[in-house]
Amino acid sequence: MLKPTDSCLQLSPPGAHRAVVALGSNLGRRIVYLHTALVALDKIAVGTMQCSAVYETTPVGYLDQGKFLNMVVCLHTYLQVRVLLSYLQQVESDCGRRRIIQNGPRTLDLDILLYDNEYVCYGDLQVPHPRMVERGFVLVPLAELLPEIRLLGGKTVAQLAKTWDTVEEIRYVGRFW
Ligand code: AMP
Repeated sequence: MLKPTDSCLQLSPPGAHRAVVALGSNLGRRIVYLHTALVALDKIAVGTMQCSAVYETTPVGYLDQGKFLNMVVCLHTYLQVRVLLSYLQQVESDCGRRRIIQNGPRTLDLDILLYDNEYVCYGDLQVPHPRMVERGFVLVPLAELLPEIRLLGGKTVAQLAKTWDTVEEIRYVGRFW
């Protein structure tokens, strides 16, 4: 496992916020969609983004669909959390995302996992992301970037990710960025 990266743990520059975003794609040229998302995230990032490796994962929830490529990115941004959500939804839409089946196939899925140490609870936005503690495809890449932070329930990301270490549903593909 890689060492936690410095800039994820550093304080944000004045006025900026640390955002951790999960990326997923299981339709079309999946790696190209991840790259498109990274280019878009870089536009709103202050300083360097930290990227996890890419993993290929078996879908959860709606099973009759192809495997996902997943990764996690940590960045600092001046965008407020709701503006960030709108920005991510625009990027999904620009990548041809259509919401036809819940948890169904998608060209690009972007979720806000963490935003500073804030708890955000609106009808359409919950942060920390409420389902992240049970999702190996989030925890395993997140453990590369922020292994020591504690999530809901008190366990660290590293502890939660460990249970997924040897599971074949989460396959390490490689480090591209
Ligand atoms: P999905 O279809 O999985 O991309 O879910 C998107 C929906 O989840 C949108 O309607 C969002 O408003 C909502 N949502 C709630 N919390 C979050 C979050 N932390 N990050 C992204 N979307 C969220």
